[in-house]
Amino acid sequence: MIPYGRQQIDDADCAAVLEALRSDFLTQGPHTERFELAMAAKVGAQHGVAVNSATSALHLACLALGVGPGDQVWTSPNSFVASANCARYCGACVDFVDIDRATLNLCPQALAAKLEQAERCGRLPKVVIPVHFGGEPCAMAPIAALAERYGFAVIEDASHAVGAHYHGEPVGNCRYSAITVFSFHPVKIITTAEGGLATTNDPQLAARMALLRSHGITRDSRQLSRIDEGPWYYEQQQLGFNYRLTDLQAALGLSQLSKLDAFIARRQQLRQAYQRQLAALPLQLQQQDAANLSANHLLVIRLADDAALNRRQLFDELRSAGIGVNVHYIPIYWQPDFAALGFAAGLCPHAEWYYQGALSLPLYPGLQDEQLTHICQQLALLLTGDSGQR
Ligand SMILES: *Cc1c(COP(=O)(O)O)cnc(C)c1O
Repeated sequence: MIPYGRQQIDDADCAAVLEALRSDFLTQGPHTERFELAMAAKVGAQHGVAVNSATSALHLACLALGVGPGDQVWTSPNSFVASANCARYCGACVDFVDIDRATLNLCPQALAAKLEQAERCGRLPKVVIPVHFGGEPCAMAPIAALAERYGFAVIEDASHAVGAHYHGEPVGNCRYSAITVFSFHPVKIITTAEGGLATTNDPQLAARMALLRSHGITRDSRQLSRIDEGPWYYEQQQLGFNYRLTDLQAALGLSQLSKLDAFIARRQQLRQAYQRQLAALPLQLQQQDAANLSANHLLVIRLADDAALNRRQLFDELRSAGIGVNVHYIPIYWQPDFAALGFAAGLCPHAEWYYQGALSLPLYPGLQDEQLTHICQQLALLLTGDSGQR
């Protein structure tokens, strides 16, 4: 089965992990600090805080921004559940802003309309979490303008978008947000097996996230609230967590980061090949803005409603042909655990429309050109009865 996504691990990655394994630090140590500095430098941010997953990074980002019971956090329904769960971990209420049918990202006009309504009933959000779906950056400038006007903070969920650029600048530089969060899960752009990282330009937000990552404990004598009792002394100053990234993982992350540009270039090449070879078929690809560089995490198509097969039929046919297609995403609020909070179908019609015909095709640096052509021929055969093969 050709998978929809897959990590790319080489000998240098293996050597980097072994070297860390033989060093003095296994848990958070010097590699973690180097990885944080390297990631922050790569995306043009002042600070990087590495943690054990993007889910943890989203949780800490919400806490650092003061999200708590009674607050509203809004995000895109076309995302992984973690984009919404972070608000719930903090006891806040989550709500959803519909997507744009072409970019499949949170729609700034829908956000503006929802904010206007929320202002009238005094339910403005404290935080909005746009998600760079499939690696294509959201319309951050208009979202930032709304943040200014309505006084909410922005957390970018850039789990799909390590290496992407928005209007010529790297996603993660936080020009339009307080905090940006990346994921290093194996299907994402670069991997640490499990892992995540938050970037910010605000030293206080960085310090808060770093404190909460490790039990809310500090040993830094300048930050102690009481008299330092000696070299053994530490203080828990807040209720925190164990969200640390190990040094083994950070070593892998550093090695992977050195290949980020090559991964992005290969993904872009594959996306362009798909675009050419699928052009005549009854489906739409996610629209990309020419002013952006997508990280091309996912190759998503939306099947036309009048296509010869429906999504379920196409999914089953491709899977039985050995092509590991997938679906991203079921609208988050359709999950039973969100329905239990009172969410019902119809809330975000565009996200629901997209989901009904959505399919993700294989896309990862190791995908071969011949495999891609085979996938496109299979699709053409199923949708038109002609593979286009000459
Ligand atoms: C993968 C993903 C996450 C969670 O990442 P983990 O590192 O697995 O916790 C969050 N948001 C989005 C959009 C994702 O795709």
